[in-house]
Amino acid sequence: MICPCCGREFQAKGNGKYCESCRHRILDEYTKWRRMKTRKKLKKCIVCGRPLEHYTSPYVCSHECGNIARNILHTEKQRLSRQANKQWKEKMCYGNGKEQPAPRRKLKKPLSPLGLDIEQAKLHHMDYPTWMNSKERKEWKAQCT
Ligand SMILES: [Zn+2]
Ligand SMILES: [Zn+2]
Repeated sequence: MICPCCGREFQAKGNGKYCESCRHRILDEYTKWRRMKTRKKLKKCIVCGRPLEHYTSPYVCSHECGNIARNILHTEKQRLSRQANKQWKEKMCYGNGKEQPAPRRKLKKPLSPLGLDIEQAKLHHMDYPTWMNSKERKEWKAQCT
């Protein structure tokens, strides 16, 4: 196949339309742009490398280059599949993790037995004393142990 981006011939893998080097370069440039806090306009198009002039996008020079970039980004996103969105965001915002640590997720405190009972009471639409006396609680406790 001929890569529509650089015009070189390459061995297509799967349904990839663009050669490896173009894909990597574009993803790389795009990731760099995403990691800039300012998201300001780049000097060069991430697809063809031409200087950016009046086109509205901050990282491509034209509609065609925009399509190529979108295509490649889309394929990459699908490649990550399943957890696509989460992985994608992590990848695009934090790359290899050198620049910024991944945001720490707030850990939920494990509930104390009392907390658990309160949670369960709520789940069963009972108030706490009723819950503590109920048959369901005993059944639930039995299930847990
Ligand atoms: Zn190429
Ligand atoms: Zn371009």
